[in-house]
Amino acid sequence: MLLIIFLWIALALVVGVLASGRGRHGFGWTMLACLISPLLAGIFLLVIADRSPHAKRPVPATHVDCPECGGRILREARVCRYCGATLAIPQEPPTLHGDP
Ligand SMILES: [Zn+2]
Repeated sequence: MLLIIFLWIALALVVGVLASGRGRHGFGWTMLACLISPLLAGIFLLVIADRSPHAKRPVPATHVDCPECGGRILREARVCRYCGATLAIPQEPPTLHGDP
């Protein structure tokens, strides 16, 4: 019985950690997981949208991610404004012609 309670709390803590990683209130989610069940809370957490700033955002067509620092910079930029790395001129993909 003690083991079940221990597992319950451990899973609730995991849910809390995951929640805070997703930009949610970790403590609140830990309490919620304790009250309902860690499994249910975990499922809720997966279903609701990810609020984390690290969540993947689409790269606008006018911007690219710097290969050196990952900063979002203008596609036309030759030097990264975050780390100062010199960037190669973006190359157009080779056009595919059916006939020469
Ligand atoms: Zn950079």
